[in-house]
Amino acid sequence: NLSTKLDKAFKTLKGQGSITEINVAATIKEIRRALVDADVNYKVAKEVTDKIKDEAMGRDVLTTVSPGQLMTKIVYDELTQLMGGTKEDVVLKGDPAVILLSGLQGSGKTTFAGKLATFIKKQNRTVLLVACDVYRPAAIDQLKVLGEQVGVEVYSEPENKNPVEISQNAIAYAKKNNKKVVIIDTAGRLAVDEQMMREIEQVKLAINPSETLFVVDSMTGQDAVNTAKTFNDRLNFNGVVLTKLDGDARGGAALSIRAVVEKPIKFISTGEKMEALDMFYPDRMAQRILGMGDVISLVERAQQQFDEDEAKRINQKIRKNQFNFDDFLSQLEQIKKMGNLKDLVGMIPGMSKAIKDVDIDDDAFKPIEAIIKSMTPQERAQPELLNGSRRRRLAKGSGTDIQQVNNLMKQFEDMRKVMRTMNKMSSTKGGMQQMA
Ligand code: GDP
Ligand code: MG
Repeated sequence: NLSTKLDKAFKTLKGQGSITEINVAATIKEIRRALVDADVNYKVAKEVTDKIKDEAMGRDVLTTVSPGQLMTKIVYDELTQLMGGTKEDVVLKGDPAVILLSGLQGSGKTTFAGKLATFIKKQNRTVLLVACDVYRPAAIDQLKVLGEQVGVEVYSEPENKNPVEISQNAIAYAKKNNKKVVIIDTAGRLAVDEQMMREIEQVKLAINPSETLFVVDSMTGQDAVNTAKTFNDRLNFNGVVLTKLDGDARGGAALSIRAVVEKPIKFISTGEKMEALDMFYPDRMAQRILGMGDVISLVERAQQQFDEDEAKRINQKIRKNQFNFDDFLSQLEQIKKMGNLKDLVGMIPGMSKAIKDVDIDDDAFKPIEAIIKSMTPQERAQPELLNGSRRRRLAKGSGTDIQQVNNLMKQFEDMRKVMRTMNKMSSTKGGMQQMA
């Protein structure tokens, strides 16, 4: 896989201080080939690798990891960023909120409609599924079976051949019957054709959905990109659903589609069962594309080693009862470096399901940081200096209020108290041991 190739390409680099133009060229070629192998569109692969090259040039090579591993980490970070960096949620606006599904026949729209209904129902919102495939009577039945299976009502008008009317009627029905989210499943042809495009365009115009999703089969490789482009030109959709990622699809379509249409991928579908739906996480997809397992964690662990020195330094200060706001800030940075809080908790086995719908605030540290950064170096080193008027100045300078500043002071004092107690206990214990 790509990471082993990278490692080989960089063997010769070991011992050198940084990545340079000459030693990066061959590797960049390798990466480009590997991306194309993973179904990434050639043009996109070229753009990506040009960026990666810029990013890699001149980076210091850590002594504890091979340059190949460091390079892999750079590639991984870049791919993650290119796929949007973070996940993006489906937008539910309006009463009812309307979601319109588009895509070719067989892409997995109807299946996804059932999954999305299940997903939204779990958030305690009432859902109405709408059968707008007017060409295949069997399509209505398919949705009805799914609706029954997941316990969601299905709206259909078997005699009506006008999808605009059906969707408008369905929305009126939803309003009357207190359904908060309407999911409209539409017809898809085997290939993009004009009539179908005009039809879904008209539906979109008539009902103005808060979310238009484009559903695409990830197994279709390069074609997926062209289809996405055609649909986006006509519909200007807000998000993409990648289906059939349970097979051996290599995920490259995610990168290409994102790069070509510049719309976020919101969900991935990984099977025929109604539970087989996931939010799209750019970092996980980057891993899939690179086909790497341990390399990233290896590099991260190496970086942590650097941080260990810092941890030792802080420990010393705690022992000497000299812990101050500079140390506090440095601790915060360490925690932040470990990444998104929710992702961190999610790495604990069994926890990722439990916290799926819970919001953990990543911004919780922001006001604290702002306050500490408003302190003068002297105040940070000697928190005792912070009297009333200085605290008011901090509140103003950090855009917080005096209450928040006082809270922080109190927390900080409590922390120092605990540290002092711990120090006393350990020194007593040490003393006892010595006596024994
Ligand atoms: P539509 O024509 O766009 O509505 O597509 P369907 O929802 O009817 O799906 C077409 C076929 O693909 C069906 O046989 C589905 O069971 C299958 N399918 C849909 N999504 C997935 C998926 O994520 N993984 C797999 N393996 N099959 C899927
Ligand atoms: Mg269908």
